[in-house]
Amino acid sequence: MEILEEPAALNQRKIKKIKSRSFQAELFTRFSIAGFALAIIAAFAYSYMASTMISRFYEREGIQATENFAQLSALALLYDSGENAKEAAFATLNFPSIKHVAIISAKNTILLDEGETNEKILSSLDQSKWLDGSARLFPSSKATWQIAAPVYTVFNDDSDPDLTLDDEIEETYLGYVVIQVDTSEVRSFQLDIFLRNLVVGLGYGFAFAIILSLTLRRLLKPMNELTSVMEETTDGAYKSTEIDPEASLEVIKIADVYNQMISKLAERDQKLRGQKDLLETEVALRTSELVQARDTALEANRHKSEFLANITHELRTPLQSILGYTEVVKEVLEDEGIFNCEKDVDKITHNADHLLSLINSILDISKIEAGKMEISNQNINIKSLLARAVDTVAPLIEKNNNELKIIADEADSEFLVDEKKLFQILLNLLSNAAKFTHEGTITLSASIRKKHLLIEVSDTGIGIDQEQQDIIFEPFRQIDGSETRQFLGTGLGLSITMHFTQLLGGKIKLDSEVGKGSCFSVSIPEKPNPETVIDEH
Ligand code: ADP
Repeated sequence: MEILEEPAALNQRKIKKIKSRSFQAELFTRFSIAGFALAIIAAFAYSYMASTMISRFYEREGIQATENFAQLSALALLYDSGENAKEAAFATLNFPSIKHVAIISAKNTILLDEGETNEKILSSLDQSKWLDGSARLFPSSKATWQIAAPVYTVFNDDSDPDLTLDDEIEETYLGYVVIQVDTSEVRSFQLDIFLRNLVVGLGYGFAFAIILSLTLRRLLKPMNELTSVMEETTDGAYKSTEIDPEASLEVIKIADVYNQMISKLAERDQKLRGQKDLLETEVALRTSELVQARDTALEANRHKSEFLANITHELRTPLQSILGYTEVVKEVLEDEGIFNCEKDVDKITHNADHLLSLINSILDISKIEAGKMEISNQNINIKSLLARAVDTVAPLIEKNNNELKIIADEADSEFLVDEKKLFQILLNLLSNAAKFTHEGTITLSASIRKKHLLIEVSDTGIGIDQEQQDIIFEPFRQIDGSETRQFLGTGLGLSITMHFTQLLGGKIKLDSEVGKGSCFSVSIPEKPNPETVIDEH
C-alpha cells in the first residue's frame, strides 16, 4: 500500500530548502543595496552640482579678468603697440589659473602674447563673435579654457556743450583680448569633491547597513524565538512561547494567538489520547470476546459434526440389518407362498432405503463440515462410470416418463479422480433432473479436454428461478420446503455435490429458467491445484 507523505513533513522539507533565504537576510540585502545605491547616487548628484558651481565660479572669474584686461588693452590696440598693455597683462597673469594672455587687433595682428601655453591662441575672430559686446568662453580642450573679450574705443567730446546723455555715443571695434585659463585646478577640485562625497556616501551606506542589521535583529528576534518554539511543537511536544513585552504589537498578537491555539491543541490531544486508550481497551475486550465466541462456535460445530457422524454411523448398522432381515422375510414368505404381504414388505424396504440414503447424506455433510472427508484418487474410465450412474437412476427416469440422452464419446478414457465422489456427484445431479422433469428429456454429456473432465446434466424440467439459484447449494435448502411438498428429498444433494466438486478442485455452475429446464455444469481437473481445494476449517 502506498504510504502518503504527511503534509507537515512535506512542509518541513520545503522550509529546509528555502532556509538560505530567510526573511531577515532578504530584508537586509534588499535594504542595504537600496541604501548603498541611494548614498552613491546622492554622492554623484552632489558632486555634479558642486562641480558645476565651481566651474561656473572659475568661468565667471575668468570672464571678469578678461573684461578687465580688455578695458586696459584699449590704448594698446588704439596705438597698435602691445607695450602699452604689458603692465595690465602681467597683472592679469597674476591670477594663478590664468596662464596666458594675448591682444589681437581687428586686423588679426597679435600685439601682445604673454605667458606659457601649450595651445594655439584663438586668432582670426571677427566682430560678429560678440553679439552683446561682452566676453565669452570659446570651446577649447579639456585642459584649457579660452576666454575672449572685444575691445572698443569710445569717442565722446566732453568739450562739446550741446552733447547730452541721450545722444548716441560712437563706438569703434579695435580688436580683442584672449586669456587662457588652466582648468587642472578646477578638475582637481571637482575630483576631490567627488571622492569626498563618495567616501561620505559609502560611510553613510555602511552606517545604514549596520543600523539596519541591528534593527532587523531586534525586530525579528521575538519572531525567530516564536518560530523555534513552533518547530519544537511540530515534534509533538506542545510548547507555549513567552511573550516579550518589548516586541512589536503584531508579534505579540501572533504569539498570543499561538499560545491559545497550542493550549487548545494540547487539551484536544489529551482528550484524544484518552479516547484512543479507551477505544483500544474496548477493541481488545471485544476481540477477546469474539475469539472466545468463535472458538466456542468452532468447538460446538465440531461436537455437532462428531455427534452426527457417530449417530449416523450407529443408525446405519441397525438399518442395514432391518434391510437384510426384510429381504430374508420376503424370501421366506415367497417360499411359503404367502404373497399378500409382498407390497407391505416392499414398502419397508423402500422406506429403509430412503432412510439409509438420508443417513448417508447427513454423514457426508458432517464429514465435510468436520474436515474429515478424504480424497482417494484412482484411474477410472469415465464412460463406464457414467453408464453405472445411469443404470442406478434409470428406474427414477423411467418413472417420470423421461427420455435420457448420453453424449460421452469424448470421455471414453482413463481419468485420475476420486471415483466415489464423482459417482455421488453424478447420482445427485441425475436423480434431481429425473425428479424435477416429467415427460421431458434429460441429457448427460461428458468430455475430457485439457486434463479437465467436463460434465453437463441438463433437463427440460420445472427449472429454478434466479433468486433460488443462489440458495439451493446451501444444506437443507429446498425450493418447496413445505410439509405438503410435491417432491421428496433432503435438501442435502446439491450441497454435497458442490462440496465434493470443490474437494476435487473443480467448479460447479448452474443455468436455469423456470418452466424451461436446468443445466448443471461441473468441471474437475485431473490433478487438483492444492490452493483450489476448499479447507473446511
Ligand atoms: P433435494 O434432496 O431436495 O433434491 P437438493 O439439494 O438436491 O435437495 O436440491 C435442492 C433443491 O434444488 C431441490 O429441492 C429443488 O427444489 C431444486 N433442484 C435441484 N435440482 C433441480 C432440477 N434439476 N430442476 C429443478 N429444481 C431442482
